[in-house]
Amino acid sequence: MMTCIKCKNKSVIKKLCKQHFIEYFENKVYDCIDKYELVKEGDKILVGVSGGKDSLTVLYLLNKKFKNNVTAYSVDEGIAGYRDKSLEDAKFFCEQHNISLITESIKHNFGITLDQTVSNTEKKPCSVCGVFRRYLLNKHREYDLLATGHNMDDEIQSILMNLTKNQMGLLGRCGPKPGIVSSDKFLQRIKPLYFCTEKEVMAYSFLMNFKTSFVECPYAKTSFRAAIRDEINDYESKVNGTKERIIMNFLDLVHDLNIYSDENINKDLSISITLNPITGCNSCGEPTTRELCHACSLKKELRPLILMQ
Ligand code: SF4
Repeated sequence: MMTCIKCKNKSVIKKLCKQHFIEYFENKVYDCIDKYELVKEGDKILVGVSGGKDSLTVLYLLNKKFKNNVTAYSVDEGIAGYRDKSLEDAKFFCEQHNISLITESIKHNFGITLDQTVSNTEKKPCSVCGVFRRYLLNKHREYDLLATGHNMDDEIQSILMNLTKNQMGLLGRCGPKPGIVSSDKFLQRIKPLYFCTEKEVMAYSFLMNFKTSFVECPYAKTSFRAAIRDEINDYESKVNGTKERIIMNFLDLVHDLNIYSDENINKDLSISITLNPITGCNSCGEPTTRELCHACSLKKELRPLILMQ
């Protein structure tokens, strides 16, 4: 029997027993919060919760440390057989831990479900889902912070997707406390699980007995993200430490990367990417660099279909 490197108990993961792994994992998350100053005293935190292992883990740990300042928030995209189940898990978890939960639906806000959009158009599910979800989340600016359950694997996938698609401006959304422009038009995001791998989060949620179905969204396998994920996992299995090196090198690089709009120019930095200035959407007033924000453009495009629902 393999024993824990800190005590004589049976090791379960990373040469640690259950108790020492939980301690290691929680310290890693709280160290990230401290080092990157993710939360200030008294901050009101909205936590995006899907009901999956990552979001329940971040919700649990934030609620443990910042009790009374944490609210859970879920979006029902309208994905039959998947989201209804994961929302039940989110609801159960919030009741169990006495955390208030706000739920909003894409159907109610935009007049159409994700399933209806996907089955009647050629649109990529994750793109539609991302645009509507980000829009709804950013509207909650009565909170100081929006915490998400993005883990190290998710971040690596985002970095590589943005590089591959030459979407350099979107690199500003990466990092434990992302953002290219400090503005009250944007709800500041934080990612406390930034340095935890998918495997570690899975082990933690399992050891903590979080009730989650571990079911993947049916659209996930069609995404570019899934293809990148498989490639990186394959590479990590051949070259140990790849994931950690990508993240650490990205964090070094991001210091020198100056992604700016007119509101936030720092000409001292060497690599610069210019974005259009952020204004208000002509239709809804929400922040955007275009005449119509992505959500209103999409809604306009889907209008004939929405009227049929
Ligand atoms: Fe939305 Fe794509 Fe995630 Fe499914 S996998 S919840 S469609 S972003």
